Parts: sequence; C-alpha cells; structure tokens
Amino acid sequence: MHSSPISEIELDGRTFLVKRDDLIDPFLAGNKYRKLYTLLQTPSKTFNKIISYGGTQSNAMLAIAAMCKSKNWEFVYYTTSVGDAQKKQNIGNFAHAIGLGMKHRELQPQYYKEYIASLRINLDEKTYIIDQGGADRSAKEGLSVLAKEIRDSNLDVKSLATPSGTGTTALFLALALPEYKVYTTPCVGDALYLQEQMRALHEIPENLIILEPAKKYHFAKPYEEFFTLYKRLLQESKIEFDLLYAPGMWKVLLEQTQEQILYIHSGGVSGNESMLRRYDKKSIR
Ligand SMILES: *Cc1c(COP(=O)(O)O)cnc(C)c1O
Repeated sequence: MHSSPISEIELDGRTFLVKRDDLIDPFLAGNKYRKLYTLLQTPSKTFNKIISYGGTQSNAMLAIAAMCKSKNWEFVYYTTSVGDAQKKQNIGNFAHAIGLGMKHRELQPQYYKEYIASLRINLDEKTYIIDQGGADRSAKEGLSVLAKEIRDSNLDVKSLATPSGTGTTALFLALALPEYKVYTTPCVGDALYLQEQMRALHEIPENLIILEPAKKYHFAKPYEEFFTLYKRLLQESKIEFDLLYAPGMWKVLLEQTQEQILYIHSGGVSGNESMLRRYDKKSIR
C-alpha cells in the first residue's frame, strides 16, 4: 500500500490537515485497516476462521468481513438479538457484511457475556478471535506504519487528532509518535472509562491528551449538532466523515484547541447510510 494522501481544509477560519485513511478501501478503511494490518499481512493458510463479536452496525465487523473475504477465511460474528427490521435492511454495515459472507450468530442477552468468555476455551490453532472493536495489542504494528507515514510527510504540524472508541488507535499512535501531541475524545463512555480501556493495553503516555466534551453524548444516538457539523464538513471540505465519532472530535478541537492539527480520518463512512436514515426519521436533514 502507498501512503494515504493528506488534504488541507478550512473550518472556522482555521486550516486543518486531514490524513485520508478513508480512501484506503470502501469497507476496509480508516483505523480498522490499520488495526487489522498484522492479520492482513498474515498468510491465508495460517487461519481458516476468524471469530468476533459486538455491535450489529459496527465498522470493525464490516472491516473484518472484508478482510475474511479477501483471505478466504470463514467469519463468524456474535451479537445479542437483532431486530427483524435490521435483518431485512439492505443498506448499512450489517447488510454489507452479510453480503461479504459473514456468518451471523445471535445470542440471548442473558447468555451473551458468558458465551463470549467461553469462546477462547479449546480454541483450535486455525481460529483467531478478535475482541470487540479490534481492541488488540496486534494493532500496534499497523499504527506504527501510520506513524511512519506521518513522520515521512515532514509536515510543520506537531499535533494530531483522532476520535476514540476503545482508544486502541489513539494510544498506539501516541506511543509510536512521542514527538507529537495526540488529541482524542471519548465517543463511547466518559474519559475515565476510556483511560481504563487504554490502560488494559498499555500505560498512557504523556503526549496523549483526552479532550472532554462539554456535554455528555450517548454513543450512536442522533444529535442535531453532530449532524450540522457533519454537513458543514462535507460542504466546506468536500470530505465525508463518519457520523458517530468524527463530529464529537471536531467539536472539541474547534472549542478547545488553537494550533494547526493533522486530523487522522478514521474511516467509518460506510456506516453513514443507516445513520442518515435515522436522522431523516427524526426530520434532521
Ligand atoms: C472504530 C472507530 C473509531 C474508534 O477506534 P478505537 O481504536 O476503538 O478507539 C473511531 N472512528 C471510527 C470511524 C471508527 O470506526
């Protein structure tokens, strides 16, 4: 893979740079491509099956499905119960993942946790389990590749930004680039929860800065101000960002920082189809 390009955009009278990891692939892009890098470099014959679990519209799920299709690996994905409406929907990440051959297994909510915990028992050597959201130490290698691309672009910018779910991306990026400031914001839970998740992977370095939103947002809920920011970014920069993570990150960057920043586009645009439909239902357009 060549290094992903960098775009320059104007927002609120400020200039930002954007690392276009969204352009890597329609389904396997952004930080999911970086996090799956090690597995993508693994010879196909090493495994025959990948197991993962989590949300039913997850970007990680779709990226893993695209990887398994290209590797000819079986992909089994566990979720709690899914509504009939979603099963029938022909747009969104779930529909695309099924189209790529993902085998979906539904678990009763009361057995979900226990079942997921039992997956690693008696695992055969040809099967690999990826934890929810791709929160895996193996993500380190792909993020070192991204770090090298950033370093090699010789920019004047010394601050980076990328939004967090599990925090895996921001953490490994900050560790790989100690000479840069890495801003992130918690999109799932609060800052304390994010720090807890990160610490499970590695000690948090000093150059990683968590910016907290002024207001509490629930993950994957539609918010008018998120939609407004998504549309402004689309119109003014001609770049589509995802609706779940990017608006929260841009919001705190505009409110709480002043210097020039390189924003790492974390992908996830494929999930917008189903999210836009939800905004439309709430008459937010
Ligand atoms: C998964 C995802 C994130 C969160 O990445 P983490 O490494 O879990 O923090 C951020 N942005 C987008 C678009 C994602 O799909």
